[in-house]
Parts: sequence; C-alpha cells; structure tokens
Amino acid sequence: MGSIDPKTAFSMRAEAHVDLAAIAANCRRLRRELTGGCELCAVVKADGYGHGIEQAARAALAGGASRLAVVTAAEAAVITELELGVPLLLLAPVRPDDLMAAIETGAELTAWDLVQIEQIEHAATLLGAEVGVHVKLDTGMARFGAKTDGQALAALDAVASSDALRASGVWTHFATADEPGDDYFPAQLRRFTEFAAEAKRRHPGVLAHAANSAAVLRDPAAHFDFVRCGIAIYGLDPFHEDAAARELRPALSLRSYVASVRPLAKGESAGYGRRFVSERDTLLATVPIGYGDGWRRALTNRAEVLIAGRRLPQRGTVSMDSITVDLGPDSDVLAGAPVVLIGEDGAERITTEQVARACDTINYEITCGLTARTVRSYDGP
Ligand SMILES: *Cc1c(COP(=O)(O)O)cnc(C)c1O
Repeated sequence: MGSIDPKTAFSMRAEAHVDLAAIAANCRRLRRELTGGCELCAVVKADGYGHGIEQAARAALAGGASRLAVVTAAEAAVITELELGVPLLLLAPVRPDDLMAAIETGAELTAWDLVQIEQIEHAATLLGAEVGVHVKLDTGMARFGAKTDGQALAALDAVASSDALRASGVWTHFATADEPGDDYFPAQLRRFTEFAAEAKRRHPGVLAHAANSAAVLRDPAAHFDFVRCGIAIYGLDPFHEDAAARELRPALSLRSYVASVRPLAKGESAGYGRRFVSERDTLLATVPIGYGDGWRRALTNRAEVLIAGRRLPQRGTVSMDSITVDLGPDSDVLAGAPVVLIGEDGAERITTEQVARACDTINYEITCGLTARTVRSYDGP
C-alpha cells in the first residue's frame, strides 16, 4: 500500500481546474499585439484572479511575459519567494507600516506625492536598498495618483534626485478601456501621452505604461513601454463578451459532481424559501457547490450547468454548500456523474462571461470570488 497524499486523500466537491498551457498561450497571443520592444507585464494580483498566483506567474513567464505586477506587499512576498528573476511592480501604495516588508521583496513601488516618496526613501535608506519607483498620474480614474502633471513631475524629480530611489516608471490607468467607442479613453490617453513625453524628456530612462487588457486590444497607441494585462492572460474577455472570438483560451474550468438524485413531484419545492416549485414530476440532482465555494447566490434560478453533455437548469436557491439541478423526468443521470459549471462538456460550453451576466457582474468577479474551499488543480507546464 502506498502512502496517502494529503492533497488527494479527500476527493473534490468543487474543483477549479486551471490549464496553465492556456495562460502561456494567451500571453503569446497578447505579445503578438505588441511592437517595438513593448513588454508584457502579467498581473497576478488577487491570487492570479483566483487561478493561483504562483502557477499563473510561472505560466505567464513561460508565455513570454517579462514582468509581473501585484497589489499587496504579501502578494509581492509570494512572488519573490519564487525567485523568477523578473521585475515586479506593486500597483497600489502600501501602508507605511508595510513599507519595509514591501521593499525587502525587491518590488518596485508606486508613489506620487512627496510625503510617500520621503517615507519610501527613509525605509530604503534604513535597509540599504535601492528602490525603483513608478510615479502614477491620475488621468481620470480618481483613485490613486497625482492629480496634476506638475505634481507628478515634481514627484518624479524627487525620486530621481534621491540616492536611495530610482525613477523607474510613469503610469496611469484607464477607466473605460472596455467600452469601445467612448470618448473618455482617448482623452485619458492624450493626456498621458503628453505627460509621458515630458517625463521621458526630463528622465530618459523612465518607462511609461498605461494599458490593461482591454486597452491592449483596443488601441496600439496605448501600449508604451509595457502593458499590464490581467484578465486576458487568464483567457477571459476584457470586453465581457466571448474570449474565443478574440483568440483567448479560458484557463479555468469549474467542476463538481452529482452527489444525490431524487424525484421531485409536481408542486413540490426545492431549497430555501421554496424559490423553485416544480411544474412537473421530475428528477432533481444535488450538486455540492454553493456560495461557500464561490458559486454566487445571485445565480439562484439563473444559471445552467452541463451534465453528460447536456445543458440543464439550476433550480432553487443557491445554498452555502449546494445547488439543485432539474434533470428532467426521463434522465438516466446517476449520483457520481460529473458536473461542469464553467467549461466544456461535449459540444456544450458555459463561459465565465455567461455566468457573470447571469448574476449582473463581470468575469473578473466570478473567478476572483471562488473561495479557498474550491480546490484548485492544474495541468500544463
Ligand atoms: C488589475 C490591474 C490591471 C489589469 O487589468 P486587466 O483589465 O485585468 O487587464 C492593470 N493595471 C492596474 C493598475 C490594475 O489594478
């Protein structure tokens, strides 16, 4: 008898399977959009949008990404442990009490005002480190960044004149890159283009970056020195439609299984609040995935799943631990049958975008929302 692997000693209730070859292929596909030495920075924040930060980072580099970005000091520490040897950028300011830890990861930091820059300089000096700083200009997202070009340039000058700091980059973030045809994106782009030119005139080594996934596909003029792609590297559509139509391959599929099958007579109900009352005699499957796993309660009576290659309606309230599916009166599906909630089964396919639409959100929130109880499994490089 072999020893028991703790990772597989229990079978999975709900499993998010991640195809790492798809992440690598999506990075190659995105790089085809880039010209003139423009680099791909893979954004692996929030546990790689729910796909697994370490696995996503390695797969993205295998696909030609040459930089990584995260949001928190803790995420940076995870990446640093992997010793991947590529520049790492923190996309948001860290709390002053996390500065030392952030600097020790070797990540480049985001800043835009003189107080932040002094704090970073102080911490860097104490640690004897040289810290790369990317100065952010707020061109219309109104979350982080210098409000005026003058403030941003003053910040950049301060960084460049410090022995402990390196003027590494200038950047901004678009609010409406995923809304083709709007006039806000071009206005943000125009403003940043002028600012970046002035920043580079003053500090020639500085890299400029602005584009998220949507902007990469929308306008080559937004590419600059590197692009910051998250959603598209996971094969999800930045425009919330169909990733396949943009030659992106979804990396994540979500699977569970039929834990129980029972008859439900006409007039009987299923689930909390009796939000499904059957209009016919039918068979009902119970599938052990619920909002405790990240399958949103807003999907109550609104989602479909694939069982044995057929698209079937999820009926009744999504519970914390399970959902119920109407198999129809003549079903021969038995307990143990695989269930696909996101992904392909035979000729049928359910996309993350469809699930998102069914509960009035975006694909990002569906994969990020999968909880730790949903087991991640991987194949690929
Ligand atoms: C998350 C994030 C990105 C990646 O955006 P996608 O739409 O997922 O490509 C890029 N830039 C910043 C500042 C971000 O926070």
